[in-house]
Amino acid sequence: MTFAQLGTGVSKGIAIGPVHILYRDELEIPEYALPEKFVPDEQIRYTAALILARQQLHDILSHIPANTPADIAEFIDTHLLMLNDSALARIPLEIIANQRCNAEWALKLQRDALVRVFDAMEDPYLRTRRDDVDHVVNSIQRILLNGPVHHGVQPAQEHPHSGHILVADDLSPADTVLMQHQGIAAFITETGGPTSHTAILARSLGIPAIIGLHRARDLLRDDETIILDGQQGWVLANPDEYSLQFYHQKRRQEHIQYLESVKNRDLPAVTQDGETIKLMANIELPTDIDAVHNIGAQGIGLYRTEFLFMNRISPPDEEEQFRTYLEVVEKLKGKLLTIRTIDLGADKQVDGGRHQTATTTNPALGLRAVRLCLKEPALFIPQLRAILRASACGPVRILLPMLSNINELKLILELINDTKARLTEQGIPFDDDIAIGGMIEVPAAAIKARMFLHHLDFLSIGTNDLIQYTLAIDRIDEEVNYLYDPLNPAVLHLIALSIEAGKSLSKPVGMCGEMAADPRFTRILLGLGLTEFSMHASSLSGVKQVINNSHFTQLSAETQKMMSTPDYDEFLTLLHRFQYTSRH
Ligand code: PEP
Ligand code: MG
Repeated sequence: MTFAQLGTGVSKGIAIGPVHILYRDELEIPEYALPEKFVPDEQIRYTAALILARQQLHDILSHIPANTPADIAEFIDTHLLMLNDSALARIPLEIIANQRCNAEWALKLQRDALVRVFDAMEDPYLRTRRDDVDHVVNSIQRILLNGPVHHGVQPAQEHPHSGHILVADDLSPADTVLMQHQGIAAFITETGGPTSHTAILARSLGIPAIIGLHRARDLLRDDETIILDGQQGWVLANPDEYSLQFYHQKRRQEHIQYLESVKNRDLPAVTQDGETIKLMANIELPTDIDAVHNIGAQGIGLYRTEFLFMNRISPPDEEEQFRTYLEVVEKLKGKLLTIRTIDLGADKQVDGGRHQTATTTNPALGLRAVRLCLKEPALFIPQLRAILRASACGPVRILLPMLSNINELKLILELINDTKARLTEQGIPFDDDIAIGGMIEVPAAAIKARMFLHHLDFLSIGTNDLIQYTLAIDRIDEEVNYLYDPLNPAVLHLIALSIEAGKSLSKPVGMCGEMAADPRFTRILLGLGLTEFSMHASSLSGVKQVINNSHFTQLSAETQKMMSTPDYDEFLTLLHRFQYTSRH
C-alpha cells in the first residue's frame, strides 16, 4: 500500500479498479495577424468549426443510454445553446474582422472576456458555470487546431476501459455521459468544484467521483489498482490484500443497500409497529420538483425562497415571485408546499451585503431573516402577497425563519393579517386559513417552543442553525466545524422540547435541517418522537429504509433512558448502543 490521497468527494460509492489516465495537454493557441483579404475565409473557417462542434454534441445526445435520467440531456442541451449563442456564434467573427486575427486567437479573447464575467459573480454555483464556457470553447478550439475528436473519452462502441477509474485534469458533462455508457467505474479530476455540472451529473448517474485531487495524474500510474471512496474523497493506491477484501465487501453491501432503496421508493414510511412517518423534500428552485416526484416525497417541507433574490441587482417584484411560486404549486399537483419567507443576511447576503454595517461583526447574530423583513417591509410585503396569492391555487403553508422573540412573531403575524386584509379589499383570492409555522433555529425558541407554537400552526426544526447557535459554532467556519455535533446532549434536549411542544398542543412538528437527512440519526429522531422529516430528495430513500426497519415505541423507551441519565459517559454508551447495535 503506497499512499492515500484526499480530494473532494462529490458522488458517493466505493470503486475498485485499474487507473486509466487521460492526458489532454493544454491547448496552445496560436496568434497571428491576417491580411484583410483573408478575413472572410477565416470567418468561414470559424463557422465551420462551430457547426462541427454542434454536430459532435448531437452525436453524444444520440449516444445517451436509455437508462440515463431524463434531465441529463439538459446538460448537453446547455452546451448546444451556448454554441448557438451570439457570444460564441457572432462575437468571435467580429473580433476576427476588427482585429484581423486568426480564429483561434479571436475565440481565446472572447473566452477570456466571458470568464472574467463569471469570475466576478459572487454565487459559487454561477461561478462554476465558467467550466461550461471552457468545455464548449475547448471543443471548438480542438476542431480549429485539427486536434483529435474532442471527447476525452473514446467513442461508445470501443470501451477498452470498462471497469477502469478514469483520472483526468477535467471532464465535460458530455464526457461524463459517455463514461457511463462505456462502463467506467469512477472518475477523479484534478480541477472542478462540487457544484460543477460534471459533479452534479456524476451524482445523477451514480458514478462515484472525486474532484479537485491535485496532481492526481502525476501521483497515480496507468493500470495500477486503486480503491476510491466517492463520499469521503479519498483514494488508496496499491492496496494490500486485506484492504482489497474489506472494500470489496463494503461495495457489495452498498449494492445491496442500493437495491433495497430502489425497492422501497414506492413504499410508505411506516415503522414496524405501525407509526406512519411523513417524508417531505427540501427545494431551492422550481426545477427541483421532478426529483421530488421521482422519489415519492409527500410534499415540500422547506422551499428556500432566498435563492430567487440572490445574484441580481434588484429583488424580484410581487409578480415575479407570484409566478415562481405558482409554477411550484402547479408542478406539485396537489402536494403540500411549505414556502419559507426570505432568510437573507448572515451567509446569504444580497446586494453586496448592504445590510451589513461596519459594526456587524457577527452577521449570523445580526440583521437576518425575519429581523430584516420587519425592518424592510418593502422587501417583505411583496413576498407575503405573492405567497398568499399562490395559496389560492393549491395547498401552501408559510414558514417563518429564525424566530427568537415572541413580540417579533406577533408583529409578523400582524403584518400577515394586514396583507390579507389588503388582498381582500382588492378582491384578490387567497387561502384565508393558510397555515403559518415557525422554524426552531435559535435555542430561545426551542426552550419556549410551546409559547411560540401557541401563536402558530406548526413548527419545523432547523438543526443547521440550531446546532450553530446552541454550541456557538459558526457553521461555515472550517476551523471550528469539528465541534459541530448534532448528537450533543444539549442539542438533542432542545429537539426533544420542540417535539414535546407539538404533542402538548396537538400541532405538527417536523425537521428540515440536514440532521433529518442523515440515516445515522434517524433512529434517535424517531426515539425523540419526530414523525415529520424534510430533506433533499436524494436522501429520502436511505432515511425511509431505516424508518421501515425501526420500532417506534422501543426506540422511544431507549431514547428516554439515554436522555434522562445525568452521566455523560453513560449517555455516550447508550447513544453508541442506540446507533450501532440496536436492531429495531
Ligand atoms: C436550518 O437552519 O436547519 C435550515 C433548514 O435553514 P438554512 O439551512 O437554510 O439556514
Ligand atoms: Mg436556518
